[in-house]
Amino acid sequence: MSKNKETLAGVKTVCINGSRYQNRYLPRVFTFIEQLKEADIHVVLRDRFADYLRECAGELPAGTEISSSVPDDAQCAISLGGDGTFIRTAQWIGDREIPIMGINTGHLGFLSSCSIDETAQFVEELLNGRLCLEARTLLQLEGDDIPEDFYPYALNEIAITKEETSSMICVGTRVDDVHLADYLADGLIISTPVGSTAYNLSLGGPILQPSMDCVALTPIAPHSLTLRPIVLSGDSVIDCTMESRAEQYRVSADGRSFVARRGTHLRIRRAPFRVITLRRSTDNFAATLQNKLHWGAR
Ligand code: NAP
Ligand code: MN
Repeated sequence: MSKNKETLAGVKTVCINGSRYQNRYLPRVFTFIEQLKEADIHVVLRDRFADYLRECAGELPAGTEISSSVPDDAQCAISLGGDGTFIRTAQWIGDREIPIMGINTGHLGFLSSCSIDETAQFVEELLNGRLCLEARTLLQLEGDDIPEDFYPYALNEIAITKEETSSMICVGTRVDDVHLADYLADGLIISTPVGSTAYNLSLGGPILQPSMDCVALTPIAPHSLTLRPIVLSGDSVIDCTMESRAEQYRVSADGRSFVARRGTHLRIRRAPFRVITLRRSTDNFAATLQNKLHWGAR
């Protein structure tokens, strides 16, 4: 699993987005920002995170700048929180492909490479160009009923689920223009490798190495012995047509959702840009499985 990896060097400006539910970590958050400044790194805080810090602590860390948008000169973004915060930080970065470091103050922090107690090591590795860059693929959602203000990209998964009804839905699914199956189920999720440890894991789908280029189709409670989770090539174009007795169903991208009408057609495929993650060199897929999922523990 160890390969020569590209690293990040020469970082002068970082932007930070953070969870607004981490009061007990605030002293460590302030210490971390102090460590960055001592290393002569310019710190820009996302406005809503700055508001939260000011509200809880009564003041902002000295010498920081505030911005609602990602600053043009940011060479690195930092996500302070759990996996949900990492996803929202990636959404803030959008298609800019600025490397994102996840610093975990959440639950298991699958998307983070560092805990809030290891920030001194992180800053040291950032200064010495020892952090590795790894790209992650996203999914893009296209279709008729997508609200205009909906961000149509997902780092974890697109989920098609039943809405306000006890009856099953039927998700007619074509892959690269060939009929695959009609999923008679509570729903279907199309998961990225990153998302394989999220909703997909709860549904019994396969865990995938996050750097892979593939997608998993995992049904939610299918009424069939033959509709197993399946892994497809990352360049697959997946077309779903939704039928159900009910008038509507729900479509989610990383947990953000909207309601669509029966008969709507959705197309899901790899997004034209990626999320670049920053990883500490000691962090790898095997370590994540062992430390966070207790892989092979006896
Ligand atoms: P949430 O309801 O707070 O997230 C549910 C849990 O999933 C949280 O513990 C979250 O970690 C964790 N998580 C998110 N992405 C993960 C990943 N890639 N690998 C491992 N765990 C991950 O909502 P959220 O934080 O905004 O996350 C959205 C995600 O929730 C969706 O994309 C979907 O995958 C997942 N979800 C799961 C279920 C289920 O398992 N039954 C149902 C609906 C949605 P943090 O606490 O660190 O944020
Ligand atoms: Mn969360």
